[in-house]
Amino acid sequence: MIKLKTVKETIHQLEEVRKKGKSVGFVPTMGALHEGHLSLIREAKNENDFVVSSIFINPIQFNNKNDLVNYPKDLNKDIDLLLSADTDLLFLPTEEEMYPEPVTEVFDFGGLDEVLEGKFRPGHFKGVAIVVKRLFEIIKPDKAYFGLKDYQQLLIIHRITKNYHLPVEIIPCPTIREDDGLAMSSRNQLLSKQERKQAILLYEVLKMVKIQSGFSSINEVKTHVDRLFRKTKDVKLEYFEIVDMYTLEPLKAWAQSKNVIACVAAWVGNVRLIDNIILFS
Ligand code: AMP
Repeated sequence: MIKLKTVKETIHQLEEVRKKGKSVGFVPTMGALHEGHLSLIREAKNENDFVVSSIFINPIQFNNKNDLVNYPKDLNKDIDLLLSADTDLLFLPTEEEMYPEPVTEVFDFGGLDEVLEGKFRPGHFKGVAIVVKRLFEIIKPDKAYFGLKDYQQLLIIHRITKNYHLPVEIIPCPTIREDDGLAMSSRNQLLSKQERKQAILLYEVLKMVKIQSGFSSINEVKTHVDRLFRKTKDVKLEYFEIVDMYTLEPLKAWAQSKNVIACVAAWVGNVRLIDNIILFS
């Protein structure tokens, strides 16, 4: 696996790869890798001749300084995992490399950034969009792989790719879960043993909602979810919404949309987790 830290070397290396007629798949990450990330890399390996992954903890997408400071890091373990998945190139830029000048880009997300995560993490998606667009411009991948775990992020990346005519195909990949159902996340390793046990509530609730969907009213479902969260001591619900999968508009009745997803965010101790489940599509 080739490891590169500069934009210049990475652009040059990938020019050589493309000259040989090879297709390039790309998996951007913030490191602290787990099986969820590796599933994206495996998918990229299946569909491309050459696979690039990046590790960059993007400071401008963190609206909470503590979250940035505490974000887990283990580069040696990450490199071993990337090698085990046969990654061809790891791009490891510094902050100066990614942001040589103050950032000024402005994006129009058509309101997709004003709900769910956007409501609670102001500026987060702007930071995501800036870094992903820059990474695409450096790597110029044919296909880029993103997890459905971060569904709103996936939708926003789709939108900027389309609006800026970025020549890359976005490939959504399923959420990989622990044996008990908890969605894998780099932040899970920050949970205490007790918190880890309680964290399964997010997925338990989503599964329950999937069973109830279409039967109980949306209001009844939301009241039930609230009640379940209030019963669990260390888990604090931030939001639970049932929304249209493409506009992210909250639904008041099931009949309002044929494509429906339930999204949840909750604090487990000091760790903020998100998850979602597709109800109808
Ligand atoms: P992150 O390192 O958290 O920025 O995630 C990098 C990529 O991995 C994003 O496209 C995430 O959606 C994806 N990802 C994170 N966790 C999972 C998971 N449990 N299953 C599938 N993809 C995931």
